[in-house]
Amino acid sequence: MLFSELHTPKRTIMTPGPVEVDPRVLRAMSTPILGQFDPAFTNIMNEVMEMLRQVFQTKNRWAFPIDGTSRSGNEAILCSIIEPGDKVLVPIYGRFGHLLVEICERYGAEVHTLECPWGEVFEPQVVIAEIKKVNPKIVAIVHGETSTGRIQPLAEIGKACRERDILFVVDAVASIGGVEVKTDEWYIDGLIGGTQKCLSVPSGMAPITYNDRIETILFARKKVERGIATEEDLRFTRSKHAISSNYFDLSMLQDYWGPRRLNHHTEATSMIYALHEGLRLVLIEGLQQRFDRHMLHEKALIAGLEAMGLRLFGDSRHKLPCVTCVEIPNGVDGESVRKMLLDEFSIEIASSFGPLHGKIWRIGTMGYSCRKENILAVLGALEAVLIRHGVNVIRGEALQAALDEYKVTRLAGMAVEKSS
Ligand SMILES: *Cc1c(COP(=O)(O)O)cnc(C)c1O
Repeated sequence: MLFSELHTPKRTIMTPGPVEVDPRVLRAMSTPILGQFDPAFTNIMNEVMEMLRQVFQTKNRWAFPIDGTSRSGNEAILCSIIEPGDKVLVPIYGRFGHLLVEICERYGAEVHTLECPWGEVFEPQVVIAEIKKVNPKIVAIVHGETSTGRIQPLAEIGKACRERDILFVVDAVASIGGVEVKTDEWYIDGLIGGTQKCLSVPSGMAPITYNDRIETILFARKKVERGIATEEDLRFTRSKHAISSNYFDLSMLQDYWGPRRLNHHTEATSMIYALHEGLRLVLIEGLQQRFDRHMLHEKALIAGLEAMGLRLFGDSRHKLPCVTCVEIPNGVDGESVRKMLLDEFSIEIASSFGPLHGKIWRIGTMGYSCRKENILAVLGALEAVLIRHGVNVIRGEALQAALDEYKVTRLAGMAVEKSS
C-alpha cells in the first residue's frame, strides 16, 4: 500500500493547547539543519537563552529548553533538586497540581498536599500557614491551571518561601507568553514554561529557568557523585544521592547549553528554530501588548458567551485570561456539541478532566489562536450548534456583544488588529 502525503484539514483551534502556530514559526522549522556544535547553531542557542530570560523576566544565568513536552520541564527541575525523603508541599487546585505530586513522589519526596475545590485558587495566607506547619524543602505549584481556567497569585507565597529559605518551583506552562509571569520579582527559584500554549510553538519543548539557589544544589550533588564533595557541599545535599535521571540532569544540561558545550543529547534542531522564531515574535509584539491582547479577546469572548445566555464556570476574580470555562447547559451532551463544532465548522474546543468532565467546555484563547476572527468564528458557530441541540440560547446577540466590545476598545485607542 502506498501512503499519500499528509493532507490535514484546516482547523480553528480554540483549546488550551496545542494551539495554532504562526506561519512564520512553521517556516522557521523548515530551515536547513546545522550541526549541534556549529558556531552558527550555538549562536542560535545563545539567542534562545537571551530571549527566554526576557520572556521569563529574569536575570538568571540559566534559561533554556528541555527537549520533551512541557511536563519534561517539571520533571527536570524537580528531579534535579529532590532527594529521597525531602519534604515537598504541593497546593493543588486542578489537574496539573496532581501531576506535580506524581513527579515528586516518583523521585522519592515526602509530599504534603493542600487542596481547594476546582474552580477556586488559594488565599496566599492559607498556603503560607501550611508552609509554616510543614516546613518543606520545596513548594511546587501551578501558576495557570488549564483544567479549571484559574490563575494563582504567587508573589506573597514566593516571598514567604524565600524568607524561610524554601525553594519555590512554579509550573507556568499555560501562562508564559500570555499572562504576566515575573520570575525574579516573585522569588521563583525554578520556573517551567510551555511551547504549545501561549507561545504558539509546536509541542515538544519545555523552556525552563532557575537561579543560583538551585545551581548550588546541582553542584553539590555532582561532587557527591564524583566523591569530591566538601563539608560546604554537603550542606546542600542531605541524602548524598546523585541525580537519578541522566536525561533530565540539569547539571549536565547546563554544561551543554553553557560555554563548555559538553555533549549530552543531540539538540532538537528544528524545534530550536521554532522556539527562536516564537520567542522573537513575542518580543516584537511586546510583552505588555501581548498580555493586553489576550485580555482584550478574552473580554470579547466573555461578552459574547454571556449575551448568548451561557454561564461561566469558576471564581471570576481569579480567571486565567487565556482559558474560558463555560458551563454545559443542563441536559446537553457536551461531547456532541464539540463534535458538531469540529465536523461542521472545523472548530475545536476542549472538554475538561476529572470532576469537571461533562460539566464544562474550555475555550482557549492562546497565542496565535487568540485573534478576532477566531473569537467571532467560535461564537457564531457555538450559537448555531447549541440551537441545533435544542438549547434555548438568546439568539443573535453573541456576535453583536463581541463586536461592541471590540468597538469600545478601538475607540479607547487599543490596536485590536495588531495581534496577528
Ligand atoms: C499543558 C500543561 C502541562 C503539560 O504539558 P504537556 O506538554 O502535555 O506535557 C503542564 N502544566 C500545565 C499547567 C499545563 O497547562
